[in-house]
Amino acid sequence: MSLERMICDSCGAPLDVPESARFVTCRHCQTHLRIRRDESVHYTEQLEQIEQHTRKISERLENVSAYQKVEALDREWMIQREGYKTYSKNGSQIPSTFGAVVGGIAMTIFGIFWMANASRHSSGMAFFGVLFIGAGIAMSVYQFASAIRYQEAESRYHQRRARLLDQADESLDLRNRD
Ligand SMILES: [Zn+2]
Repeated sequence: MSLERMICDSCGAPLDVPESARFVTCRHCQTHLRIRRDESVHYTEQLEQIEQHTRKISERLENVSAYQKVEALDREWMIQREGYKTYSKNGSQIPSTFGAVVGGIAMTIFGIFWMANASRHSSGMAFFGVLFIGAGIAMSVYQFASAIRYQEAESRYHQRRARLLDQADESLDLRNRD
């Protein structure tokens, strides 16, 4: 069996490696080495480094996929969010409970003024004030309900996002542990 003189990749000690060997343990520093025989050069490589490298790649992939899930969730939410928007001549907006209440109060005040003003002329016109108030309250209740639905959907989105980020951080932590 012929031996080949090589250098330990970790401590630099000379090693006599059998020609057919693929792995060897350094007698001086006990490092596990892989024998690399490329076309022109033969050298040793620390096994732990190779394993670490492979593990880091797989953990990085895990991490990437966790962040991809966050991105997918964000995109999904952006689409879902559009569905809650109300459109008016002032553009689109997310329903808010505050806006719903203010809108209802404004319509009610308008209806009261209408009735006060119209009742001086005819009782028929004054009745429209009741309709304005009724429509105002109905609109307000509807907008309030959709604002609540939006808030619930938004908090579900934030919860899911936080969970996914936790998972991503966990795989980061595992990677940084060593
Ligand atoms: Zn060594």
